[in-house]
Amino acid sequence: MEDVSKAMQQLMSQRHLTANYRQLMEKVYADPQVQAFYHEHQSELAPDVLDRSAAKLYEYVTERAKVAQGGETFAAGYEPQLIVSNHLIDVAYVPTQATQEKQAQQQLRQRVRSIAMPKDIRNAQLDDFDHDESRMEALMAAYDFIETYEASPHRRHQALYLAGSFGVGKTYLLAAIANQLANDGFSSTLVHFPSLAVEMKNAIAQNGVGDKLEAIKKAPVLMIDDIGADAMSAWVRDDILGVILEYRMQEELPTFFSSNFSMAQLENEHLRVSSRGDDEPLKAQRLMQRIRFLAREITMIGVNRRPQ
Ligand code: ADP
Ligand code: MG
Repeated sequence: MEDVSKAMQQLMSQRHLTANYRQLMEKVYADPQVQAFYHEHQSELAPDVLDRSAAKLYEYVTERAKVAQGGETFAAGYEPQLIVSNHLIDVAYVPTQATQEKQAQQQLRQRVRSIAMPKDIRNAQLDDFDHDESRMEALMAAYDFIETYEASPHRRHQALYLAGSFGVGKTYLLAAIANQLANDGFSSTLVHFPSLAVEMKNAIAQNGVGDKLEAIKKAPVLMIDDIGADAMSAWVRDDILGVILEYRMQEELPTFFSSNFSMAQLENEHLRVSSRGDDEPLKAQRLMQRIRFLAREITMIGVNRRPQ
């Protein structure tokens, strides 16, 4: 370290510098990080680097001070770093720790696409899912799915059909699975089915059904939340749900469901009867076959956990 300081002192005295400038640069050259960098990279640097890179060193020290004080910097969210460039010292700007964390968080969020889902599911975590006995089976099945899916995402994996009454945590569990998958680098799409149905109906007028339906159909992992919550028109049942399920079955894409109905109830009390009142048991049976192919029924029991 000593020879560095000496070199710097020499440099300063050799030149006819104004007192102001000298004072400024003395501080820069005395900076521990500047000294450490110089020391570490001396062999790669030009002999007169301290002179030629003075402006860069000055920029480094002043910008770093601004970051430390939380002031406005040259590039918001970035901090200066010294680098060797062509035997001279230059300044590169790298994302700060906070920026990196924010970017990672954003990336994570982008892996979970949600359509008409409540906002608080963003924070759902498997670790926070309290598992009394009745929820244990669902939680274990969730962990099993995640493990086998992540080990071979392109194989067929049967997902879960979570059945259970209002407020037992079905949506929470689906979201926690999606968040865990995101954490491990896998994307999924969660869709609140009754809202999607309404949205699709409105989209017909604008000819906008195609793109959205396509994206949902092809989601690597799809979670259809609250199927059966609203009466379905024959069009939604056959041209939306039916089309989605048909595609996912053929492509063997993991598809979860949650419903207040058991599978048997969904078939007989919901899918069979269209909102116009037509009884169509064969159509219901065909749809149920697809759902059964895609997912295994697990019943969640328990108290309503919704804040009353
Ligand atoms: P469902 O979809 O079955 O109607 P939700 O998933 O919406 O139920 O859960 C109802 C409320 O309880 C939500 O506010 C959710 O965040 C919370 N919740 C549900 N299950 C759990 C759990 N096991 N641990 C912690 N909070 C939960
Ligand atoms: Mg729900």
